Order: sequence, then C-alpha cells, then structure tokens
Amino acid sequence: MTIAPAMFCPRCNKPSGDTEKCTTCGTRLKALESAKRRGWVVFGAGIFLLVFVSAVWIWVDRLMAGQTADGLSGFIGRLNVVFVLILLCGALAVVSGWFQAHSGRTNRAIAFGILIVFAIALFVAYTALKAVNAA
Ligand SMILES: [Zn+2]
Repeated sequence: MTIAPAMFCPRCNKPSGDTEKCTTCGTRLKALESAKRRGWVVFGAGIFLLVFVSAVWIWVDRLMAGQTADGLSGFIGRLNVVFVLILLCGALAVVSGWFQAHSGRTNRAIAFGILIVFAIALFVAYTALKAVNAA
C-alpha cells in the first residue's frame, strides 16, 4: 500500500513522500495542499483577468465607436492586439492554475509563456500610446 505524498518540494517542483526536507535537493518541503491552493489562486486570477479585460474591451469598444480622429484607428488596432494578448495571459493562467491545483506542480513552460506574452502586450501598449501622442 502506498501513501499519497502530502508534501511538495518547490525546487524539484514535485510532490514528495518525505516529511521535512527533500531527499533529492535538501529544500524544506511545503504542504502539498498549500501548493495546490496556490494553483487555485492562479486559476481564479486568470478567470478574473478574462472577465475583467473582456468587460474593459467591450467598454472601450463602445467608447471608441464612431470616433474618427487621426491616428485613432491605428491606436485602436494596437489596443485590440493588447487586449487579445492579455486575454491570452488570462487563459494561460487558468490552464496553468488548473494543473497546479490538481498536481501541485507549477508548469514552468506555461508560466514562462505568460511572462513573454505579457511583455509583448506591454510593448504593444507602449507603441500604441506613442502612436497616439505622435498624431
Ligand atoms: Zn527537492
């Protein structure tokens, strides 16, 4: 009979059957439950981001409807890209959080992906603001 591991090594990024320290790397273990709870937090934050950004997007879309000022269409075009990228971040966070909530493991590839997409979103937002200032 095997006992389900109750602890989690944050460094090895995997559940551990040890009680205090990881036998592989010596890192102090955390409760697996707390690692899973963090996953739910990421999951919730992702859902919140999806709902919040969608709401803001709809709001901005209505606000900008009918506006024809110079440079504005380029700004809106870039802004839409920013919204899509942030929604992608939210979706990735939901997926990553879901997996972490069930296994305790952080999916580092997805976490890295979120960072990259977010950085691109910031960059596009920056160029959008520059475009509108230049107009
Ligand atoms: Zn370890």
